Amino acid sequence: MKDSNQEVLMQTHKLGKTFSHGGVQQHVLKNLDMTLYKGDFTVIMGSSGSGKSTLLYAISGMDKPTLGEITFEGQEITGLSNDQLAIFRRKNCGFVFQQIHLLDTMSVLDNVLSSAYLVQKDRTQAVVKAKKLLSEVGLDASIWGKFPAQISGGEAQRAGIVRALINSPKAVFADEPTGALNSAAGASVLDVLTEVNERGQSIILVTHDVKTALRGNRILYLRDGVMVGELHLTPYSEDSGPERQKQLQSFLA
Ligand code: ADP
Ligand code: MG
Repeated sequence: MKDSNQEVLMQTHKLGKTFSHGGVQQHVLKNLDMTLYKGDFTVIMGSSGSGKSTLLYAISGMDKPTLGEITFEGQEITGLSNDQLAIFRRKNCGFVFQQIHLLDTMSVLDNVLSSAYLVQKDRTQAVVKAKKLLSEVGLDASIWGKFPAQISGGEAQRAGIVRALINSPKAVFADEPTGALNSAAGASVLDVLTEVNERGQSIILVTHDVKTALRGNRILYLRDGVMVGELHLTPYSEDSGPERQKQLQSFLA
């Protein structure tokens, strides 16, 4: 069960997101209430089209909800201007994409630095930090100068994670981060995210994949824009696999 001393990271209150398709309204998120806790590896599951990506974009400040409130460490972010939201995001949120989205025309190192706000103040220090983080995810100096087309998908996504970490965000949001990878590369990416979480950063990961979801210690289930279930698991470790898998499978049944 959840440790009752755990602090709230963020909350949504009656969150709604509506898209309009040629005058027809599609309500993708509906009165969604959700609380996320600091230090958790939260996994949001749900079938394709249930609104997972829409929810992740809203809570990470990448897109604005239509209705409702989002608070991050008690601060309401829903009323912020676009500029304020950009500052909030840069300070607090890292984002990892399914399609990775490294810029093809930049080296791995420059891709990471492109997100580093420290670069404007102290480029040397930003480069040191980027190289340290790249090394920690297993990307050594031989990779730093390469372009995205010259590295594997798993290497590219690990660089994508470093780009998300470069400003030391409190929360890392990941949308199907292994969706474009083979299973070995996917496992290496999940190992990195597990380590990031073990060092104290909160992870909020969206997936429809059960094996990926097993990395989490708290599983939320989204159906048709509504949060319909919640499961607490002990934190991931390789040897606690079978028991956690049983718990997750009966939750999903
Ligand atoms: P999931 O990530 O769970 O597969 P999404 O959040 O991507 O689901 O999408 C949920 C629904 O919202 C889908 O029907 C999708 O077509 C619609 N949708 C998502 N983003 C947009 C958008 N930018 N414009 C219009 N419709 C969208
Ligand atoms: Mg999605």
